[in-house]
Amino acid sequence: TERTFSIIKPDATKRNLTGKINAVIEDAGLRIVAQRRIQMTEAQAKKFYEVHAERPFYGELVETMTSAPVVVQVLEGDNAMARYREVMGATNPEQAAEGTIRKLFALNVGENSVHGSDSVDNAKIEIAQFFKDEDIV
Ligand code: ATP
Ligand code: MG
Repeated sequence: TERTFSIIKPDATKRNLTGKINAVIEDAGLRIVAQRRIQMTEAQAKKFYEVHAERPFYGELVETMTSAPVVVQVLEGDNAMARYREVMGATNPEQAAEGTIRKLFALNVGENSVHGSDSVDNAKIEIAQFFKDEDIV
């Protein structure tokens, strides 16, 4: 079993899609083992997306992620990291496969409803930014 980190982004929380997205996650066989709704600070968003600091969309990304509350989550299951990437669908919803979260709910590449870690190492780093070990059950 494995853990990955997920964020239900502001575009989705604003449209009251938390429950529908969680249903897709659970139907895919992933277990939500920690979950909290938070308002990300600018500092938190900047640090979280530090790898994209040089990309042209970085400022917009930080602004979008702090525009409303998000739901941060830890997901657990077999191959959870890769499995969740599959369930999320492509970054650009126009390229996302049928039945994926981004195909179902995303508005555009900047408002694409969810984040999921892109490696098991990054999952550990990201989980530690938002959760204490004892709060993951
Ligand atoms: P995430 O990291 O959010 O799970 P991802 O791994 O599919 O998504 P990344 O390449 O890591 O995609 O980009 C991080 C986020 O930056 C994307 O989810 C998206 O919201 C935003 N982003 C990526 N490319 C663009 C772009 N060309 N224009 C605007 N926003 C973008
Ligand atoms: Mg990414």
